[in-house]
Amino acid sequence: MVLEPLYTITVTCGNCDHLFKTSRVRPSFKKAVKTDTDFCGYYKNENPDYYVVRVCPQCGFASTENSIEKLNDHQRSEFRTKISSRWIKRDFGGHRSLEDALETYKLALLCAQCIGERDRIIASLLHHIAWLYRYQKNEEQEQRFLAHSLESYIRVYELEGVGANDARLLYLIGEINRRLGRFNDAVQWFSRVIQDKKIMDAAMIRASREQWSLLREQMMNEKLELPEEMNSL
Ligand SMILES: [Zn+2]
Repeated sequence: MVLEPLYTITVTCGNCDHLFKTSRVRPSFKKAVKTDTDFCGYYKNENPDYYVVRVCPQCGFASTENSIEKLNDHQRSEFRTKISSRWIKRDFGGHRSLEDALETYKLALLCAQCIGERDRIIASLLHHIAWLYRYQKNEEQEQRFLAHSLESYIRVYELEGVGANDARLLYLIGEINRRLGRFNDAVQWFSRVIQDKKIMDAAMIRASREQWSLLREQMMNEKLELPEEMNSL
């Protein structure tokens, strides 16, 4: 028997309670053949990231498994006026192309902004949209969405402070800064991961050191003045 990469699950809409089907990629197909330094994955078959957003065909509410499960009355009314009143019924339950995936992420972003989702969710949606543009080799849009995701990630850090996944968050903020050419900011964030004695995440410390060295090389190649930290570390 040949196993198909996709299977469907049934989810309940957080807005209208409608039950609908959405596809997911089987775990055995989820291994990336390559991963970028900001965790953007490349896959031989289906890309599991294309299937992260669940879109209710009935009302258009789009969310991920990390989103709030049920909208409150205020969120429901915001969503009704701003999005579902304009929704033209559409089903994203089956196979998704890159363009379909992009649509689902943009819809999820609109929904998240409309109901006032947490910054962590919004940052991740923005970052995924940047990756989709990277796959399309649309550098201008990629950079635009990377910059938006960076702002959101920084807000997450400022509002939620030091949490369980903090090293990864600090590393990402450093790496996105580097990718946007904001080298001096990138140095600061990588240094925090490397120097903070409370951080135990060995993989993120190693990644930060690697990107820190790469950054140093980039800055020397471009004959930029190295910040203080780069000489002392
Ligand atoms: Zn719905």
